[in-house]
Amino acid sequence: MNFEVSNYALHHLRSRLPRICIALFAANPADLMQKIEVAAHDNSLLELRLDYLPRPALLFPKLKQFTAFHRDIVLIATCRRAPNGGKFRGTPTSQVDILLKAAAAGCQLVDIEVETAKSLKAKDMDRLRRSCSLVISSHDYRGTRKLEETWEQMREFSPDYIKIVSTARTLSDNVKMMRLLEQRSDIVSTVGVCMGEQGVISRVIGVRAGSAFTFAAAQSGEETAPGQITARVLRDVYRIDMVDAATKIYGVAGDPVGHSLSPQMMNTAFRRENINAVYLALQTADASDLLKCVREIPIQGLSITMPLKQAIVEHLDKTDALTEKIGACNTLIRSQEGKLYGFNTDVAGVVRPLEQRLNLAGSRILVIGAGGAARAAVFGLRDRGAEVWVMNRTAEKGQKLARQAHGHYVSHSQLRKLDFDVIVNATPVGMSASRPQSPLEEPELRAKYVFEMIYTPAETKLVKMARAKGIQVILGSEMFVHQGARQFEIWTGKPAPANEMHRTVLHALGQNSNLGRPLTA
Ligand code: NAP
Repeated sequence: MNFEVSNYALHHLRSRLPRICIALFAANPADLMQKIEVAAHDNSLLELRLDYLPRPALLFPKLKQFTAFHRDIVLIATCRRAPNGGKFRGTPTSQVDILLKAAAAGCQLVDIEVETAKSLKAKDMDRLRRSCSLVISSHDYRGTRKLEETWEQMREFSPDYIKIVSTARTLSDNVKMMRLLEQRSDIVSTVGVCMGEQGVISRVIGVRAGSAFTFAAAQSGEETAPGQITARVLRDVYRIDMVDAATKIYGVAGDPVGHSLSPQMMNTAFRRENINAVYLALQTADASDLLKCVREIPIQGLSITMPLKQAIVEHLDKTDALTEKIGACNTLIRSQEGKLYGFNTDVAGVVRPLEQRLNLAGSRILVIGAGGAARAAVFGLRDRGAEVWVMNRTAEKGQKLARQAHGHYVSHSQLRKLDFDVIVNATPVGMSASRPQSPLEEPELRAKYVFEMIYTPAETKLVKMARAKGIQVILGSEMFVHQGARQFEIWTGKPAPANEMHRTVLHALGQNSNLGRPLTA
């Protein structure tokens, strides 16, 4: 049944739209109907990608039955044409025909791309407008360019919604999208999203800048656009339903960060402590791009990871004394006046688990490695009065670290003669391709504790050898939680919910939570 969309109906529609629209597709009508039924249990706004169906019209009889019984569900019909990134190969007029049938089957909104709208006759656009609410959309698969100009072109069609989608090539592209939303979404309801790994900021906090809603995948592997996040992650990890103007933004910045466990761990901590904040994965190797976002979004605090740990230091207004000695910063906080302060919480990640088990002053500790994590361990342990030996593949680098920290250098061949309280592995030996390897042989493990920094796999060869010898082990996941807990404290001034964070990390690693003993941060 066609009906003229009144202002009242449109207002009613807008007022009941949730923040997430699930994009659904399938290869045949039966599968798509099944997905609609399942998604409708938890979601009241669904986009149907009709262009994935070889014969979309076969969906409509069943869809009509569904919409008759589910008046609370809002459906957007999209039949994206191939030249605009979709799969539909018919003419613009046949596309309009399908969308009109979708509206007659109960879809309240239809989406038509601006390129097609330009090629249609005015009477076709009028037919669409009379049948349902109209979304005019634009997709830039190459970058984030000419947003204002594109938005104005779409506005000329008097749509009920403008959907503007670009591709983030830098983190700052999200800022451009946010500015557009802030300035225009009051004029015409607008949905603005940046695609790609670097567009995650816009997908989570675009709604705060005025985006009418955002798009999400029903399941992992069912994304309809690059960088799309699942609805479950948007709700449970990023808590998109509570993001508002007061929500503080934090994140982990580096490259790669796609598989970082920090967003899960930190968002758990914020939720647990009732802090109105969200923590995002910010993919970049460019410190200037990152700092632009810190200033303009603004971002309140960052975990800094490779390759930015050293590069970020020169951009900071101040660092603590240990961070300066280590020469690497893994934590940034932005003051209210916009000043940037740097810390290194890898130190806490090493020192705290050890302090809970032994008295560090005067204890004998071997650190294997001389990279960033080893430097944090050596300076942090020396600061607590431990006697530290350094061993490293490249001897000169190890010797330099030992000298700087007033410790000792030891070569591999001397190890069998020495006993330690703790041996710390600060190399990647035991992970990825070197999984079957250990940095030390069994007779060289002469210590009360082995501290393994690697956390994937949970049980490296070194850890297994140590356990077999009756040596107590401290796992990399414990270090990871402690360095994160210290970041949480620096950012919020509150104690971190370390046990909750640890459980989240172990769960994400697929480990039994009994592996970790209770933590106190
Ligand atoms: P990095 O700066 O790249 O340093 C790596 C160190 O390992 C260097 O001293 C390097 O020796 C040595 N190394 C690399 N490959 C080796 C090999 N095949 N044999 C012997 N030595 C080797 O790395 P990083 O940031 O310090 O990280 C080191 C490890 O700690 C990584 O596994 C990282 O995942 C882990 N980590 C864990 C946490 C946590 O929270 N659990 C935090 C930070 C780091 P050369 O000097 O000879 O190159």
